[in-house]
Order: sequence, then structure tokens, then C-alpha cells
Amino acid sequence: MENDKNIGNWLTEMNLGHPLTIAGPCSAETKEQVLEIAHQLKDNRVTVFRAGVWKPRTRPGSFEGVGADALPWLQQVKKETGLLIAIEVATANHVKLALEHDIDILWIGARTTANPFAVQEIADSLKDSDKIVWVKNPVNPDLELWIGGVERLYKAGVTNLGVIHRGFSTYKKTDYRNAPKWQIAIDFKTRFPSIPMINDPSHICGRRDCIENVAQKALDLQFDGVMIETHHDPDKAWSDAKQQITPNTLNEIITRLIVRAKTFKSEKAIDKLILLRKEINETDKILLKTLIERMEIVKKIAQVKKEKNVAVLQTKRWQQVIDKMTLLSKESGLDVRFVTRLFKEVHQESIRQQEKIVNKKK
Ligand code: PEP
Ligand code: MN
Repeated sequence: MENDKNIGNWLTEMNLGHPLTIAGPCSAETKEQVLEIAHQLKDNRVTVFRAGVWKPRTRPGSFEGVGADALPWLQQVKKETGLLIAIEVATANHVKLALEHDIDILWIGARTTANPFAVQEIADSLKDSDKIVWVKNPVNPDLELWIGGVERLYKAGVTNLGVIHRGFSTYKKTDYRNAPKWQIAIDFKTRFPSIPMINDPSHICGRRDCIENVAQKALDLQFDGVMIETHHDPDKAWSDAKQQITPNTLNEIITRLIVRAKTFKSEKAIDKLILLRKEINETDKILLKTLIERMEIVKKIAQVKKEKNVAVLQTKRWQQVIDKMTLLSKESGLDVRFVTRLFKEVHQESIRQQEKIVNKKK
């Protein structure tokens, strides 16, 4: 899969627009509801209509989707608006029904991606299909599990693939419903640059007011598009009411989003960039050299601790380092959280190196 450069060709071949914009309700509720939303969306930049037919809910008893009854409604949406239709599938039976109703795009939800048995069942039921299939990241921040999900489909001969970054569950409450952990998405893109990646700011935010920022961040990171939950009457939505926005708000957001070119076109800008990158490379070398020197000092400290049989971790001293660095970063305008993270990493490695020395048998 790594070497398949053609894996994302369908995106440009189908001319779905850049950024690809998928919109529609969290759940299909009634025929009138899906048609109303789709008609309000059709003149925007939206080219794909999403709707949840079977809804995976955390606890039983809440609305679990209207099920297969919604499939003919979605066929009608396609007929009346020309929008392509995307739905979530979680079982072989969902796939069968989706194919029977000529659904254009299938996506595998975050809870399903976390379960290799379920993904394999879907992959087997799609064997050699030319359907477009998106794989959402698993709920847990596990890059390999996400890649594994895509691989299962690829090995089953499904090659029109894409991934959706929808953030990750965390036990600790954050500002987000699902923490974006952008680095995981960047790692995925770095390993599989030809697989299209879109962002789902609705499920990352869990609320309306941060959708635009997250979507902009995704575009700045060269995502290929966004999937945004949209409802004609969001407050009355049967699921995810807090995060859905109206087609009108979506349109305003899309208009404000800044789409930047993927690469430089002007020679002058490229020359400037080359020079600046040379400078960066030099500072990176200095950074690395400084780290090497720091580790050499750390090793000497370890020798002293070993001789005197003193514990490797000295919390008071570590607190002093962190305090000093916090103060310096405040003074210099560097982000304190970044500096703290950085020094925690450096400190952890120092401890590891010291442990190796003090525990070395003679
Ligand atoms: C959805 O897109 O409606 C959905 C259920 O998302 P996720 O699988 O990301 O929770
Ligand atoms: Mn939803």
C-alpha cells in the first residue's frame, strides 16, 4: 500500500472540488428532513451529502438511526440534487444494503475501525469493489490500528480509499469532544502521502463555535477536505444537536476558509525558501550538538550518583530546571507549554541514560 501512488487518483479524477466538502446531518431522521437539508446544501461548494443511517451510540436507548428505511430517501436526494451520497457502514449487511441502494461512498466509523474483526468483515463483503471507502481514525489514538483498517480494505482489492481524521477519545476532559492530536494525522500523511485525508471538525469539536478554526487548521495542514454535520434545524436534531450547523452557517464558514496552494509557484519565493531552510538546517545541527553535549554532562552526573549510591531522580533539582526554563521561555516569548513538553522529554531521556550507567554491573 505504501508504494501505491495511484491510491488517491479517484479524488482528482472525480473532480469533487478542492477542498472536498461533505455535508449533511449526523442522522437521517425523516424523508422530509434529508431532502430539506440536501436542497439547502446543493448550491454551496458541497459535492457529497452525508447522513448516518445506522448510528453507533455509546449507551443503548438513545436514537440508533432509522436504518435501511432511510436508503430510498437518500436515493431520492441523489436524484433531486445530484449530490453523491455517503453513509457509515459497520457490518456486512450494511454494506450489502448500501450497494443495493447505489450509495456512492461508504465510511467506516471510529468505533468500527477500532475493531479488526468488524473491519475485516466489511473488507470481505466489499471484495474487489470500486466503491470509495473512507476509514475514520479509531477512537483510541493508535496510528497502527488506523493504518491496519485501511490495509484490510486494500488487501481485499478496494483501492479507492481515503481516511477521515475525527479526533480521539480521552479520559481527561479537554476543550474538544475528541482531541485532534494532529501529529497522528500528520504521521499518517507522511507515511501514506497518496491517500486522501479529510477532516471531521464536527466530531472533533462537539460544539459549533470551534468548527471553523479546526477546519482552517486542517486546510493549513494540507488536508484534502472536510466533513461537516449540517442540519436545517440543528437544535432539534435527533443526534449530535450541539455540533450541527445550518447550511447557511456552513456556507459562511466555507466562504471564509482560506485555501492555500500546496506548493510554491514563484521562483523568487522558492529561492528565499531554500535559503531559509539552509538556516534552519544549521540551527537544527546546533540543537542536536547541544543535546549531545548535555547528555555527556548527564553521564558524568550519573557517575557521581553511582559512586555515592544516590537515586537517579532528584525531584527538587528537576523542579528547579523546569522553573528556570519556564521563566526564560516567558521572557523570550516562547510558548511555556511547548518548552515544558520539550524539557520533560529531555529529562526523561537523561534519566534513561543515567539508569543505564548506575545499573551497569562491573
Ligand atoms: C458520524 O460521523 O456520524 C460518526 C458517528 O462519527 P464517528 O464514527 O467519528 O464517531
Ligand atoms: Mn454525529
